[in-house]
Amino acid sequence: MRVTTGFNKMLAIPGATVTTVSFGPEAIVVGLRLRRRRLHCPCGFTTRAAYDRSRRRWRHLDLGASKLLLEAEIRRLWCPRCRRVRTERVPWAREGARFSRDLDDVVAWCAQRMDKTAVSKLLRVSWSAVAAAVMRVVSDQLDETRLDHLYRIGIDEVSWRKGHRYLTVVADHDRRGSVVWAGEGRSAATVASFFAALGPRRAEALEAVSCDMSAGYLKAIGEHAPDARVAIDPFHVVKLANEAIDACRRQAWNTARRSGDSPRWVKHTRWALVKDPGNLSTDQRLTLEQLRRDRSVLYRAWALKEALRDVYRLREFGAAHQFLDRWLAWACRCRIPSFVKLSRTIRSHRDGILAAVELGLSNSKLEGLNSKIRLINHRGFGHHSPAALISMIYLCCGGITVDLPTGS
Ligand SMILES: [Zn+2]
Repeated sequence: MRVTTGFNKMLAIPGATVTTVSFGPEAIVVGLRLRRRRLHCPCGFTTRAAYDRSRRRWRHLDLGASKLLLEAEIRRLWCPRCRRVRTERVPWAREGARFSRDLDDVVAWCAQRMDKTAVSKLLRVSWSAVAAAVMRVVSDQLDETRLDHLYRIGIDEVSWRKGHRYLTVVADHDRRGSVVWAGEGRSAATVASFFAALGPRRAEALEAVSCDMSAGYLKAIGEHAPDARVAIDPFHVVKLANEAIDACRRQAWNTARRSGDSPRWVKHTRWALVKDPGNLSTDQRLTLEQLRRDRSVLYRAWALKEALRDVYRLREFGAAHQFLDRWLAWACRCRIPSFVKLSRTIRSHRDGILAAVELGLSNSKLEGLNSKIRLINHRGFGHHSPAALISMIYLCCGGITVDLPTGS
C-alpha cells in the first residue's frame, strides 16, 4: 500500500484526498487536495472563480509522539454577498483556525473537564491556543434556539477578577439553571444587550425574572420586559439582613469600647448570629442565650433576621404576605439603625420579594453557577479576557455537548 493511501484511510479527512506525506524532524506534514472545485464562502455563496491562492497548514491530532500538520492550497474569492474578498471554507477546519476541527473539538472536550495547564500539556498546545479553540467551538455550537421558549429566567452577577470585574449571567429556571446568556459588566446596559439578543417577541413571552435588588437590573427588566413579574431573589434578601447584623455588631463594639467595656464578646458572636440556627454549635447556642439574657441589641437584631428568613420558610403565600407586613412594622420601629434602613429597602421591594415566595423562584441554582464559574476561573480559564471566560461559561454551563472525533 502506498503511504498516501494509508494516510487517506487513517485520517479520513472530510472532503479531501491525501496527495503527499513527508516525515520531517518537527512533524509529519500531510498534503491535501480539496475534492470539490467550487469555492465556498463562509456565508454559503459558491463560485468557480478564485481571487488568489496560497498554502496553509493546520495542526491536526498528534500521531503517536509526532505532531501532524495538514497542508493544502487555500483560495480566496470575491463574494458579492459579503462584498469583500474572503478565504474559502474548508471542511476540516473552522474559519480562521490554524487547528483542524478535530483538534479544536478535543481541546474543548478536555477544557470541559481539566484545568488549562493539563490540556496544554497533554495536547502540546499553548494556553492562548486552548482559549482560541474553545471560543471557536462555542461560537460554532452555541445554538440560537437556546433563547427560545424562555419563561422563567434568573439574572445574576458573577465576579471574575479581583478589582471588581463582573459578568452578568442569565440562566433558565426551567432548564435546570442552564446558562443562556453571559455578558461583561453588571449595569442596565449589560442586561439591555441580553434583551437585544432576545428580541421583543421572545421578551414578551417572559413570565418571571428573578434577580437581586440592583437598580440597573430592575431598570432594564422594567424597560424590556414590562409584563414579566420580577422576583427578588431570597438569597440576596438574607444577605442584606446579615449585612445589617454586621453593621449592628460594629456599632455595639464601638459603643462598648467607648464606655470602657471589654468588647471581646462582640467579636465572637458573628457566626452565632449569621448561621442557620439549626447548624449552631453548642458554644454558639450559649452565646446566643447569653445575648438574650443580657437583653442585648444583638439578640434583637438576630431575632429580626430570623423572622425575615421565616417569610421563606412559610409554605403558604397568604401567610408569607401577612408575615412580611408584620415584619416591616416591627423592623421600622426597632430603633436599630441598620435594620430600620433594611426595612426601607425591603418595603420598596415588597412585591418582588413576595413574588419570589409565590412563584417559588430563587437564584440558588445560579449561586451554584457562581461557584462553578469560580472553579472555571480557578482552573486557569479566567485570565485572558472576559470573552474567553464567557466562552468557557457557555461550554461548561450552557449545555453544550462536544463530540469527540473518535465518536465516543
Ligand atoms: Zn460570502
